[in-house]
Amino acid sequence: MKPNSKSDESRPLKGLADRMQKLAPYLFAELDRKKAEAQARGVDVISFTIGDPDLPTPAEIVEAGQAALADPQNHRYPAYAGSPAFKQAAASWMQRRFDVDLDPDREIVALIGTKEGIGHLPFALVNPGDVVLCPEPGYPVYAGATRLAGGEAHPLPLTAERSFLPDLEGIPKDIRKRAKALWINYPNNPTGAVAPEEFLKKAVAFAKEHDLVLCADCAYSEIGFDGYQPPSVLELPGARDVAVEFHSLSKTYNMTGWRVGFIAGQPDIVGALGTLKSNLDTGVFGAVQAAGIAAMRLWPKHLPDLNRIYQRRRDLLVAGLKQAGYSPPTPRATFYIWMPVPGGDDQAFATRLIETAGVIVTPGSGFGPSGKGYVRLCLTMDEDRLQEAVTRIEKAGVSG
Ligand SMILES: *Cc1c(COP(=O)(O)O)cnc(C)c1O
Repeated sequence: MKPNSKSDESRPLKGLADRMQKLAPYLFAELDRKKAEAQARGVDVISFTIGDPDLPTPAEIVEAGQAALADPQNHRYPAYAGSPAFKQAAASWMQRRFDVDLDPDREIVALIGTKEGIGHLPFALVNPGDVVLCPEPGYPVYAGATRLAGGEAHPLPLTAERSFLPDLEGIPKDIRKRAKALWINYPNNPTGAVAPEEFLKKAVAFAKEHDLVLCADCAYSEIGFDGYQPPSVLELPGARDVAVEFHSLSKTYNMTGWRVGFIAGQPDIVGALGTLKSNLDTGVFGAVQAAGIAAMRLWPKHLPDLNRIYQRRRDLLVAGLKQAGYSPPTPRATFYIWMPVPGGDDQAFATRLIETAGVIVTPGSGFGPSGKGYVRLCLTMDEDRLQEAVTRIEKAGVSG
C-alpha cells in the first residue's frame, strides 16, 4: 500500500460493532466542547461541571506512592485482585469505619477506580433480556454498561417529591421478574440526596424478595456535612447475602487521577467480577495500591479539614445563589448542588448562563429525563473563584 494513498482499496475498515450505537455521547465531552468554544472567544470561563476535587492528594499518601514507585517489586505485574496488604487495608477500613467484618480474600477485590468495576459488573451478571434497575438521573455508567453487556437498563426516577429515593414498590411486576440487579447511590450524584436507613432496609428486602444483587455505589460516603456520616448498606442485617458495595478512594482522598477503589460484599459476586477482570486487565499498579493503603490508614485524619472546606464552599454558593433569586437546596453530603431552575428548561438555562456569565453548569437532563428542570453545580473550586461566579451569576440575572 502506498503511503498517503486515499483510494477505497486502502480502507480495510468494515465498520464498527453494533454495540457502539448503544453508547451515548459522553455527557462531559459535550460540555468540554462548549467550554472550549467560550474560551476561544476569550471568556474566562468558570466551570461547575465536573466532579473532580481541586485539592491535592494528602502528602502522606503521595510520599507512600513515591516510595513504592522506586520499589522494583512494583515494576512487575501486580496480583490481579489486589495485593494481600491492600485487601487487608480495605477490610480494616470497612471494620473501623462501618463496623463491618469482611474476609479480605473472598469479599474484597481491588479496582482500577470504581468506574472500572461498575462498568464491568454487568458483564458478569447480565444475559440478553435481563434487566438492571438504574437510578435516573444517575451516574451514566450504570445504564451504559448494562446496555453494552446486552442487558436492559430500567430507569428508576429520582424526584424531589420522593426525596430522590426510587419507588421500589412501583416497579412493574414483569420488570422485577427479569431484574438481575438494583443500583443505589447514596450520598447521591447528581442530586446530593442522602438515604435514610429505612430506605436501605427496604432495598435489602427488595433484593432478597426478588433474588437480585443490590449494588451500592458509595463514592461519597466520606463527604458529609453538619456532622452527617453516611452509612454502608453492608451494616444492615442480611445485606451481605445480597449486596456488593463500591468504595472509591477518588473523592475521599482527592485521588481521582490515581485510579483506585474496591468492591466489597457478597463473595460470589465479588469473585465473579474478579474472574471477569482477570480476563481483561491485570490489576491496579502496585505503587498505586501502596498509596491506597497509606490513604486508608491515614483515614480519618484529613477528613475534618476536607469536609470543613467543602461545607464552607457549600454555604457560600447556596447563600449566593439564594441572593441571586434561585432556590438551591443545602445538601448534607457530596460536593454537588442540585438546583431547580426558574422556568424549568435546564438546557436553555445552562446555555444562557455560559453566554451571559461565562459560567458553566451541567444541565440535569443530561443525567436522565427526570433531571429536567435542574442543573448540577460542583463545589470543586476555591472560595475566591466561587465568589466571582456568584457575583457574575447574580449580575447576569438569568431567569430561565
Ligand atoms: C466519581 C464517581 C465514581 C467513580 O469514581 P472512580 O473511583 O474515580 O472511578 C463512581 N460513582 C459515582 C457516583 C461518582 O460520582
